[in-house]
Amino acid sequence: MAYSYDEKNIFAMILRGEIPNKTVIETAHTLAFEDIQPQAPVHMLVIPKGAYVTYDDFAARASDAEILDFTRTLAKICEMTGVSADAGDGCRFISNAGTHGMQEVPHMHVHLLAGRPLGRLLD
Ligand code: 5GP
Repeated sequence: MAYSYDEKNIFAMILRGEIPNKTVIETAHTLAFEDIQPQAPVHMLVIPKGAYVTYDDFAARASDAEILDFTRTLAKICEMTGVSADAGDGCRFISNAGTHGMQEVPHMHVHLLAGRPLGRLLD
């Protein structure tokens, strides 16, 4: 795989501090912030700080430390917001990739959606 990363994408600008965001949590390798157009009562975006285009790009090239930090941060956010299926009503993680995935921003991100029944994605 040889993804080409566009340094001008909006999440790269957020990471460089060029545009503001509503940060939920920031760690050494991961940033989570509120989506600007929320589709559910809880709608956050969780992104690695490294330059990865899609989830598979991240999974292939990121260090173990980055991947661990990312996944543990997801878990921490679920705990903080009370949306885990264990302690709450559950949530959905979505990571769009490429054209058919309707990915708008070409920096790897996971949407965390919760706070209402989200409907079935697949039949
Ligand atoms: P995608 O379709 O790439 O998976 O989703 C990109 C998401 O980024 C969308 O849900 C959109 O609302 C969000 N978004 C786009 N621009 C900004 C921005 O400037 N700030 C924030 N916080 N979210 C953004």
